[in-house]
Amino acid sequence: MGRTHHIQVLSPAVVNKIAAGEVIERPASVIKELLENSLDALSTRIDVDIEEGGTELIRIADDGEGIPADELPLAVTSHATSKLRQADDLFCVQTMGFRGEALASISEVSHFKIRSRTAEDHVGSELAVTCGERSDIRPIGCAPGTQIEIRQLFCNTPVRRKFLKRASTEFGYISEQFTRIALACPRMQLSLTHNGKSVHRLPATNELTERLTLFYGSQTVEQLIPIEAEHGGVRLWGYVGHPSLNKSTRKSQYLFLNGRYIQDRSLQHALNEAYRGLLMTGRHPVAFLFLEMPSDQIDVNVHPTKSEVRFRDQQFLFRLLLSTLRTKFLQSDLQSELSFRQ
Ligand code: ADP
Ligand code: MG
Repeated sequence: MGRTHHIQVLSPAVVNKIAAGEVIERPASVIKELLENSLDALSTRIDVDIEEGGTELIRIADDGEGIPADELPLAVTSHATSKLRQADDLFCVQTMGFRGEALASISEVSHFKIRSRTAEDHVGSELAVTCGERSDIRPIGCAPGTQIEIRQLFCNTPVRRKFLKRASTEFGYISEQFTRIALACPRMQLSLTHNGKSVHRLPATNELTERLTLFYGSQTVEQLIPIEAEHGGVRLWGYVGHPSLNKSTRKSQYLFLNGRYIQDRSLQHALNEAYRGLLMTGRHPVAFLFLEMPSDQIDVNVHPTKSEVRFRDQQFLFRLLLSTLRTKFLQSDLQSELSFRQ
């Protein structure tokens, strides 16, 4: 019997839909990509409005560099980016985005509108894309910066849309993405609303603790211990919680690498090790940790959502974190304080 199907190259429309599914899993993935773009555009202020957990509306406005009218179509074209020129650049990525996939993917599966204006231009321009179908670009009056509006996410991928959770759950995921950026960039003025109600209104600040106070309250922040270490071109700094500030989940643990939120098993392990004997089993420390190191020691191009990275010397970072925390705990009167309490 002959074969019933021949091998065929997929049409661009199908390829784009598949690619969209890889980058954009839920409304929170859209928020992550859009916030990162606004950061990359050197914005000082970003406002986010959400309706129904992002399933009805996601709107973001920034005061960044903007996009000139003639480049607007490229912004929604896949593999088009202003951030990467050649493969070698992959090893020294400075910006958040670099794949040139996000806006193309999002506009493929939603009713998408972008307005943008550069500081040099007197008028802005607008481009609408409905499930991958582009409108003509039209001039429009707007402030310098970029505004993006996404309605009906996954309108043409009904299975994806059906698998979304309740609006409140989806908003929880959005809020988490927002929090990661807000903690990574205290100097950024940020706001978040859901269904017209203000959820976060964060003024720009130079002090991380000020921002932490807005998220966790002053009682929590008073129980944070500052840490700082520098070794072999790597700087580690941030705050870890006094053991009495323990939690039942790891949700209050944040790790940032060169301003980007990351997850890393080995560093997670170092954190657990440092608190071993200080916490009851099943309890987890609070930590806000920042790593700064030359980008040629890191490969961020491991995962499409970029939350996992590969370090040149994982062992070194493990030891740096563990020894920094242990030394700090010994220096502070933590040990005696704890034995006194027992
Ligand atoms: P990437 O960020 O990987 O380059 P995106 O699809 O997210 O890909 O964005 C494509 C391009 O559109 C970016 O390279 C950038 O030039 C432009 N762009 C996107 N969002 C903004 C923004 N908020 N402000 C200025 N330019 C933007
Ligand atoms: Mg991007």
